[in-house]
Amino acid sequence: MITLKEALKLSKEELNKFKEDLQAKIAANPELNAYIDVNNVGEGIPIAIKDNIQVKDWSVTSGSNILQGYIAPYNATVIEKMLNAGLSPFGRTNMDEFAMGSTTESSFYGKTLNPVNAECVPGGSSGGSAAAVGAGLAIAALGSDTGGSIRQPAAFCGIVGMKPTYGRVSRYGLGAYASSLDQIGPMTQNVEDAAILYDIISGHDVKDSTSAPMDDKVSDKLNPERKLRIAVLPKYVENASEDIKSAYAKAIEALKAAGHTIVEKEMMDAKYDISAYYITATAEATTNLARYDGIRYGNRVEGKNLEDTFIQTRSNGFGDEVKRRILLGNFVLSSGYYEAYYVKAQKTRHIIKDEYEKIFQDVDLILSPVAPTVANKFGELSNPMEMYLSDIYTISVNLAGLPALSLPISKNADGMPIGLQLIAKAYDEQTLFDGSLSLEKAIGYKA
Ligand code: GLN
Repeated sequence: MITLKEALKLSKEELNKFKEDLQAKIAANPELNAYIDVNNVGEGIPIAIKDNIQVKDWSVTSGSNILQGYIAPYNATVIEKMLNAGLSPFGRTNMDEFAMGSTTESSFYGKTLNPVNAECVPGGSSGGSAAAVGAGLAIAALGSDTGGSIRQPAAFCGIVGMKPTYGRVSRYGLGAYASSLDQIGPMTQNVEDAAILYDIISGHDVKDSTSAPMDDKVSDKLNPERKLRIAVLPKYVENASEDIKSAYAKAIEALKAAGHTIVEKEMMDAKYDISAYYITATAEATTNLARYDGIRYGNRVEGKNLEDTFIQTRSNGFGDEVKRRILLGNFVLSSGYYEAYYVKAQKTRHIIKDEYEKIFQDVDLILSPVAPTVANKFGELSNPMEMYLSDIYTISVNLAGLPALSLPISKNADGMPIGLQLIAKAYDEQTLFDGSLSLEKAIGYKA
């Protein structure tokens, strides 16, 4: 597959031909189920879009039954920015319902397969975007990351996935899951393409009150020669599988060989991250999903009266995982438990943020696993708690609002991709991309 950098140089004729071929290739690979829908009408370089990002006049469903029939009335800001840069939304990609999950199995449209091994999950929730890029069915894609949903599927499918600093990319037109954690970001074949797409979609937006008033760009200034101080976390990595540990050791050697200084640091037990994240995310999700009542959006199931219509619509429209989270969110926000859960989670969030700030007083980047294992087989994480625990390495980054990039490092004995992530200070995307490019070159590995 051509890269985004190469696609930007194609003539109009070459691009049209490319898009026709791409559409045929997608149609010939339906079993992957990476795309929910393909729409080859816009002009420009085709980019795959997660099904929770609005494209005007196109269906947008967040992978849910409750939004069937809903047509986006306006473009998300990231889509406007893409169109202005000569890119066009080409296909909507599969995802876990409302971005809740780590495997893409909770989608109303059925599961997406891992392009490397069809018995394995592609990761989630942006599994369709990762599978499309990993399978050579997209030049690049957009995903969203609330607790790892860009970085983890990227690692499972052997591609690059980047979560920007909270506030760097406008959330206007993104279906909200947990508003204080959600960020849209690029999913690409390599680090340079991620920087190019990040530059296109980032920047201040008056339509998002949490958008940072900053417009600095990174791709023209990429410098993999910078020598950086990079923290590694020996104790934190102990919970990962042998596959991940050996990739971690390999990445450290590559970074040393590239002239970076490796510094050993520690982080507190990730079990606190899980509690703080699942309380915060479900509390915010409960509030965000209250609007889906069958009156204003999508699918309605008529009941005996208005209240019954709400009940029928929501009972029928939401899947099990979404219902579980609505229950959990309402529980942690209820008056008797608010102090015990929600308030404590916010305090823990501050502790996590402070912990990162302390480490960043001494280093430029942190090297971390993305997931404790490679992509698991379908049905392997059958119990919700096991699935939540598999997010240990990604969620603290969202709780602290930091930028992070997951990139392929190696494969295990079964040929499954292993990705690791670099994490940077808030708003220091330049160093994140410089260090990632250096690691990509030093490791000399392409999935
Ligand atoms: N797996 C996490 C969750 O289910 C993260 C999902 C995401 O980042 N959207 O909440």
